[in-house]
Amino acid sequence: MKGIIMCCVAMLPAFEISGCTQRNSLPPVAINSPTPAPQYSPQVAKPVPGAPLFTTPPTIAVEPLAIEPQNPWKPEAEVRDWEYIVIHHTASTTGSVESIHELHSKKKDKSGNTWLGIGYHFVIGNGNGMPDGSIESTFRWREQMHGAHAGDNKYNQHGIGICLVGNFENEPPSDAQLAAVKKLVGVLKAEYNISSDHVQGHRDVKATACPGKYFPMSEVASSIDLPVYGATSPAGTNPASKMELAAQK
Ligand SMILES: [Zn+2]
Repeated sequence: MKGIIMCCVAMLPAFEISGCTQRNSLPPVAINSPTPAPQYSPQVAKPVPGAPLFTTPPTIAVEPLAIEPQNPWKPEAEVRDWEYIVIHHTASTTGSVESIHELHSKKKDKSGNTWLGIGYHFVIGNGNGMPDGSIESTFRWREQMHGAHAGDNKYNQHGIGICLVGNFENEPPSDAQLAAVKKLVGVLKAEYNISSDHVQGHRDVKATACPGKYFPMSEVASSIDLPVYGATSPAGTNPASKMELAAQK
């Protein structure tokens, strides 16, 4: 190597010694060949007589589970004993977690106690007050508290309240809202082992039009869990999701 460096200095006297010293780790080919050597020999690309021109690459089973997001709504608090999901609409054209929280903070229960705040666990925006299709959890979900949305104690205690901004007595939810609520319902069903017939509209548990005649309740109730939980495994039985859930506790 020392000999090569000496050669380098001899062949390229214009090099400063310091520069040459800095370059002494370069492979000698760079010095002797002004143009870079091709990385691949052209002969490699020539077909070998008798050999197939193309080969089929082996089929690799891509595991989609690795790239799907995990349940992004895992609460920090210990998980409540959820049995139902109850769907609502705001029956208004605009709304957000904040605006609903403000409204609900003025409400009182049958005993005259003021509500703690927004009664739902999740709100899905429609582009007026919250981005279209955005899903926001509320303090009730983060702290795994009972809801104040169903008008029925069983469903308030054991029902996850999801409210979509909009009036679905007049029009259906937006495509983004529908996709969002199906994703959320699918994840919650899988995570908490809630069956499709326990995903209900507010009108199924109380005399109300909520969530409106244009809300596709049966389509949303039958939302399947995300591939991350295993398309063929029964909802909520994926051991990985259970282990993660346990780790969160
Ligand atoms: Zn409702």
